[in-house]
Amino acid sequence: MNSTVTVVGAGIFGVCTALELLDRGHSVTLIEQFKDGDSRTTSNGITRNIRFSHGDDVWYTRSARKAKSLWRQLETRFSTQLMDKCGVAWFSHDEDGWASSSQKTLEAEGIPVERLDPSEGKKLYPSFGYADLAFILFEPDAGVLRAQKSVSTIRKEFTNCGGRYIQGRAEPNGSYLTVNGEVFNGDALVWACGPWIPNLFELSTDIKVTMQEVTFFDSTPEWNSPNVPAYSDVEDEDAFYGCGGLEGFPFKVGSDLRGPVFDPDKDDRKLSVDQLQICTDYIGKRFPALEDSIIVDRRLCQYTSTGDSNWIIAPLPGLKNQWVVGAGSGHGFKHGPILGNYVADLVEGKCDPEAKFAANDRPYLTGGWRVMYNRPHI
Ligand SMILES: Cc1cc2nc3c(=O)[nH]c(=O)nc-3n(C[C@H](O)[C@H](O)[C@H](O)COP(=O)(O)OP(=O)(O)OC[C@H]3O[C@@H](n4cnc5c(N)ncnc54)[C@H](O)[C@@H]3O)c2cc1C
Repeated sequence: MNSTVTVVGAGIFGVCTALELLDRGHSVTLIEQFKDGDSRTTSNGITRNIRFSHGDDVWYTRSARKAKSLWRQLETRFSTQLMDKCGVAWFSHDEDGWASSSQKTLEAEGIPVERLDPSEGKKLYPSFGYADLAFILFEPDAGVLRAQKSVSTIRKEFTNCGGRYIQGRAEPNGSYLTVNGEVFNGDALVWACGPWIPNLFELSTDIKVTMQEVTFFDSTPEWNSPNVPAYSDVEDEDAFYGCGGLEGFPFKVGSDLRGPVFDPDKDDRKLSVDQLQICTDYIGKRFPALEDSIIVDRRLCQYTSTGDSNWIIAPLPGLKNQWVVGAGSGHGFKHGPILGNYVADLVEGKCDPEAKFAANDRPYLTGGWRVMYNRPHI
């Protein structure tokens, strides 16, 4: 049955949900507080990696794989390239750790994966330091998404297809919400508000917003995507990720350890000297030819993480057909289109919410991503 749905938040979770509901024939309004491309929105990074490895978790592995097909369908629909199939390389420090679990899961799921000797990293990158590595797990079908471009393109498609888009800040008010003085109380309200969720609702699920940074190092075209794979360094004390130059930005390095706790409404967006040093040390060790490269840009962005790294996709307790969708926990972007389908199914009552995504009183189930939430902040 056609219903009226309001989606708050035009990050990747919100735009994918809004477009999917619109495609299914619902009357959808999308509300966003910022202008298109605002860097405070988590999804507006230049790039986000897409990989299928999720340790031994089959749910997320399948979700990422299905999401890739949906990203390809969106590319066809928009006649534009959103993904680079450059592969993703996992630098494993442990013969039998997280990357090994991922390898077993990927093989069982029939997803292409190769276990390489660390020295083979020299074939993947123009220069590569590997003395501390046990092996490289290479996912040839994985790659990089043009994140900001994707969000912006999906949002435009939403309005082109007849969705109503409103710029303003939505305020929850029990059974309805208001924005710019207008009341919305349709058949369903979806709050896809990223790092603003803890400021909007009191949820008992452990949720923490932290400030993260990425650094872009000057590099020659041989370091651009798709000439080099995206990467992730999976050792506990050495958690880094990044990708080759893309969208006019050069080689990217980010630390995956959780940064300082951050309130997007109250705290200054300040770059950290420590983070810069950590990334500079890392690039010298792993990609020695870039050791003396100048820093071209640094960007801030926040992770919204749960204690177990599973997202929150759940009914808001005590409210009829209101949903909270978020807590991407540093690994949500790639799943955007599949997550939009899942939320649309929930809104339509076609499936029951998964216990692992509950907003309150949920079981502790590890799976989605490495749990680094309780580590000391850097
Ligand atoms: C540095 C960094 C690197 C990452 N790397 C990867 C990666 O390689 N691969 C990957 O898959 N994922 C990655 N992620 C995670 C991924 O980016 C996030 O999981 C995803 O973007 C979260 O999307 P979202 O829609 O939940 O949140 P957001 O993108 O933050 O969107 C929430 C939106 O809601 C709006 N909003 C909030 N409150 C209101 C209100 N009251 N009224 C109106 N609007 C409101 C906000 O303005 C915002 O636009 C990374 C994250 C970061 C920070």
